[in-house]
Amino acid sequence: MSDKPKRTLHLDPIACDGRGLCHYAAPDLIDLDEWGYPLLRDGGLTLGVTNAELPQARAAVEACPMLALHLER
Ligand code: SF4
Repeated sequence: MSDKPKRTLHLDPIACDGRGLCHYAAPDLIDLDEWGYPLLRDGGLTLGVTNAELPQARAAVEACPMLALHLER
């Protein structure tokens, strides 16, 4: 099975209130900066997600109380 990114995780920094729940749901994909705001692994506002990473990405989306994260095909 190919391990190429199949989905894209998007972060809306305007909606985010920086409590960091997404990091605890997806520690391999999302880090936190010194103020507790999320940093996607590649440093941008979008991140390619492989099938193996999908469970963490979905968990992060579900954990976000501000609907600041979403997954697209
Ligand atoms: S869970 Fe949502 S609101 Fe909280 S830091 Fe992550 S993206 Fe921001």
